[in-house]
Amino acid sequence: MELVYRSTRSTEKTVTASQAILKGLADDGGLFVPEQLPKLDVDMETLKSMTYQETAYVVMKQFLTDFTEEELKHCIKSAYDEKFDTEEIAPLAKVGDTYHLELFHGATIAFKDMALSILPHLLTTAAKKNHVKNEIVILTATSGDTGKAALAGFADVPGTKIIVFYPKGGVSKVQELQMVTQKGDNTSVVAIHGNFDNAQSGVKEIFEDKELAEELAACGYQFSSANSINIGRLVPQVVYYVYAYAKLLENGEISEGEEINVTVPTGNFGNILAAYYAKQMGVPIAKLICASNENKVLFDFFQTGRYDRNREFVLTSSPSMDILISSNLERLIYTIAGQDAQKNAELMQALKEKGAYEITAEMQEGLKDFAGGYATEAQTKEMIRETYQKTGYVMDTHTAVAAYVCREYKKKNKDAKKALVASTASPYKFAHSVMTAIDEAYSKKDEFELIDELHKISGMEIPAAIEEIRNAPIRHTRECDADQMKKTVKEILGVEV
Ligand SMILES: *Cc1c(COP(=O)(O)O)cnc(C)c1O
Repeated sequence: MELVYRSTRSTEKTVTASQAILKGLADDGGLFVPEQLPKLDVDMETLKSMTYQETAYVVMKQFLTDFTEEELKHCIKSAYDEKFDTEEIAPLAKVGDTYHLELFHGATIAFKDMALSILPHLLTTAAKKNHVKNEIVILTATSGDTGKAALAGFADVPGTKIIVFYPKGGVSKVQELQMVTQKGDNTSVVAIHGNFDNAQSGVKEIFEDKELAEELAACGYQFSSANSINIGRLVPQVVYYVYAYAKLLENGEISEGEEINVTVPTGNFGNILAAYYAKQMGVPIAKLICASNENKVLFDFFQTGRYDRNREFVLTSSPSMDILISSNLERLIYTIAGQDAQKNAELMQALKEKGAYEITAEMQEGLKDFAGGYATEAQTKEMIRETYQKTGYVMDTHTAVAAYVCREYKKKNKDAKKALVASTASPYKFAHSVMTAIDEAYSKKDEFELIDELHKISGMEIPAAIEEIRNAPIRHTRECDADQMKKTVKEILGVEV
């Protein structure tokens, strides 16, 4: 049976999965959502013994119904290979009494690799299926990790170009170096004078610009997105929650049907939405705990039902979560509004115009699977230090936000369920913040000295992604103001300005 996709903002049109992936964003500015969430058609007993790739197939085939078995298996095989430093792809680590699902074993050592290593394959397959002749231009706004993972995924992929916008001064040293040293003739990286929300809004505006789309089409280009607004990002992320549950079962950590809680360090709400989809598919997840840093818009939303971005934007040590407009929340809003596109569109309009909206009491009922929490900068640091001292395990700042929120949730609610924490980045990516959290004395050393120190204290091998940038030449130096993104895109593509 074919699963069709609709925009969260209007109901008339449906598209296939491959068309939704190609377009990224719907014409009306809405996000594509499946008409209904599919159920797993394989039982846990079978899933227990499956590899990551096998699990990926049984999950993704339920969503991407217009891909053939051969196409999908080829995409999966090309994505989850030696680019990952472990055959398990997403291994579990037991830290104290909590299970960390390590999603940072891919090429760019952050969880974005889980989806962005397969997205280029899904997209080029989708282009072929739909007889697209244009070159596809991937436009991406990044808070640090998406950019590099997308660049790595799309570099030198025939028929594609990729342009990444990141907030200058808003990413870690390693994140920036990873992006500006990117190879590939089809890659461009631009630092914007603004924050991530400016970059994301700018990209969305370019997508919604019909005139520009026509101009580009005349030159043989069309846009798509590698941001988590693309359903092709979200679907591969459902896989690891299914896989993690099955592995916990296989390892005897949980018993059949036992419910677990999942805590996810959240920015754009993509990763936690994937966990929610996994729950809808039948994975026994009780609470989905949304962890924020000091940009705690989502925490406040889960407390009060009011989403309000009118507040100071805080630069934190977990930059990939420094976000005030969590795009993927729209998919949840649409769902809890009873798939009412009109209602959702009204709320999103209010967000655009006033920066805030409030959901009804009835809609709040639909949020009962979720809980929110946040960690301050001091609490995040303390969590890293304390965990290292107690267990020897070193985690990155984003993961520490989640680990803190997970622990506090447990205490406050006296909830003894087994806890899974999505571990979203390698500590090497945020060496400065991680090492100074462990000992303030490290603050005098530079980034690469700290990387070597981190290796000494943790015994974790230094990832290839880090070695690569130590001496790599800088290839991208372009900068622009946040209101000049459209002009910059035209310049890069050589389209008349
Ligand atoms: C992107 C990112 C997040 C936030 O994930 P969302 O899907 O945007 O909520 C958290 N941690 C790290 C390391 C990331 O790169």
